[in-house]
Amino acid sequence: MTKQRKLILDIIKSSNGHMTAEEIYIKAKQTQPSIAIGTVYRNLGLMTQAEEIRRISIPNAPDRFDKFTGPHEHLICQNCGVLSDINVSDLKDYLQVQTGIEIISYELNLRYICNGCKGMEGSNE
Ligand SMILES: [Zn+2]
Ligand SMILES: [Zn+2]
Repeated sequence: MTKQRKLILDIIKSSNGHMTAEEIYIKAKQTQPSIAIGTVYRNLGLMTQAEEIRRISIPNAPDRFDKFTGPHEHLICQNCGVLSDINVSDLKDYLQVQTGIEIISYELNLRYICNGCKGMEGSNE
């Protein structure tokens, strides 16, 4: 493993879960000021392929990189974009029964309005 790859992986593993390439780049520069954004993108691609991390593609927003590669789903706030992990158990079994096909993998992003944003809108929750 190259020094850059180890650094990027360390940043992701010590994060709270879901960073964008840009955030990883800014963090990496603090340790290795000469690192190029292209290097960060290339390594993120390699690590996604190697399943060391998981890429989360979100329409109209930058990809996030997830340190948890195991099966889980994501909640995304429609307003501020904050992303959190949720586990919906047995969904794969359910989908397999419903569709009659053997599912290899799936991605599920649930959109909602987070509590922080709800509060700002003056909800009484
Ligand atoms: Zn929000
Ligand atoms: Zn996640």
